[in-house]
Amino acid sequence: MVRALLVIDVQNDFTEGGALGVDGGAAVAASITTYLLAHPDTYDVVLASRDWHNADDDNGGHFATDADPDFVVTWPRHCVAGTPGADYHPALDTSLVNIHITKGQGKPAYSIFQGITEDGVDVAETLDRLGVTDVDVVGIATDYCVRESALDAAGTNRATRVLTDLVAGVAAESSAATLVELQAAGIAVEPSGAASTHAASTHAAPTGAAQSNHTSPTSTETGV
Ligand SMILES: [Zn+2]
Repeated sequence: MVRALLVIDVQNDFTEGGALGVDGGAAVAASITTYLLAHPDTYDVVLASRDWHNADDDNGGHFATDADPDFVVTWPRHCVAGTPGADYHPALDTSLVNIHITKGQGKPAYSIFQGITEDGVDVAETLDRLGVTDVDVVGIATDYCVRESALDAAGTNRATRVLTDLVAGVAAESSAATLVELQAAGIAVEPSGAASTHAASTHAAPTGAAQSNHTSPTSTETGV
């Protein structure tokens, strides 16, 4: 088993004070960092995505221009490439991220699987090259980009989980409905504490993945 963590869109514009700030976004950024530091051997590779839009066009109708945004298909300007709003939230420790993904250049893109690495490789191919069989999804927003990313992870035949204490949604009702929908699609929906306990009990030695800290094999993490 090779396990990846997908960190979705933990960016300033999607956290409190941003152009499309989600309540709880900053806390999720900090919690993801805490979780990764506490479980350095759970993941063979960590990928993080950023919405990364063009400044000078409406990104395929994604930015509202002629009318007010409907917050379904059209949105206020957000995450323009190279601006502070598109940066990762400062509470996310990006030294823990192995592969950076950008998405949404000139078009709407909700799923991390619509993005590319810094070398221009798509995400499914990147995971295939690393032999990733299992994927956990965290980040923002539960009811949009986390949803789409989890569905795509499962759709590429990977055992997929969404960690419920490490996501934040636009709206409570649609976020709750999303978790029900994901479970119906065969995706595990559980808190990170439960997930890391499973991972510790089933974790095999990583082979050929991008993780560098394999000097001391994880025996168990029974303290959690
Ligand atoms: Zn966007």
